[in-house]
Amino acid sequence: MKLTDRQKAIIEIVKSFEPITSDEIAEKLSLGKSTLRNDLAVLGMLEVLEAKPNVGYYYNYDFSPGEKREEFKSKLIKEVMGIAITARSTASYSDVLSKLFIYDVGTIFIVDEDNHLVGVTSRKDMLKLSRNAEADKLPIALAMTRVPNVVYIHEDDLVSDALRKIILHEIDCLPVVREESGGRIIVGKISKTTLIKILLEILEG
Ligand code: ADP
Repeated sequence: MKLTDRQKAIIEIVKSFEPITSDEIAEKLSLGKSTLRNDLAVLGMLEVLEAKPNVGYYYNYDFSPGEKREEFKSKLIKEVMGIAITARSTASYSDVLSKLFIYDVGTIFIVDEDNHLVGVTSRKDMLKLSRNAEADKLPIALAMTRVPNVVYIHEDDLVSDALRKIILHEIDCLPVVREESGGRIIVGKISKTTLIKILLEILEG
């Protein structure tokens, strides 16, 4: 819901003069009290303003959708990233499958002998390879999405960029990488679960 200019003006007045009565707000805006009644009801319903009987209106600092949106938008990946679970591209399918269970993750990032990112393997990738009778002994490199098709993010990027990439590419997880000469090393991960947790924390303050 978009606030009107008058509602925004009311918020600014309340922030500066709280507690403030509706009469006082009306006077500051040179409006009739009845004109304001509807706006104050809307702002109360949205929990932007709080009314205390016989005292006046307060600004609710715990609930401000705009501020929460800004808080989310300005968060950096490095503030929230988690630990990435990796495996060598030469590791066997069965070793990587064990890692999925041991670390309770859905995505394993695959690296070469220099620890540079070379691919990513997900539950579905592993399920596909499991149909091969020899799967257990095969290298995980046969069941991964390879660089350059791997979507990644950097530590100093915004959390909202990660959200956009995850939605756009329909994937669960992004490796957080640092550029090095000769390749990219993995320094963390951002998953859908991380993003949902941040959104919940922001919503609940
Ligand atoms: P799941 O297989 O559990 O549904 P995903 O939706 O993340 O998990 O994976 C779907 C496909 O996208 C898989 O083939 C996987 O290799 C690929 N994939 C996963 N993460 C990435 C990524 N960061 N970049 C590119 N491809 C990815």
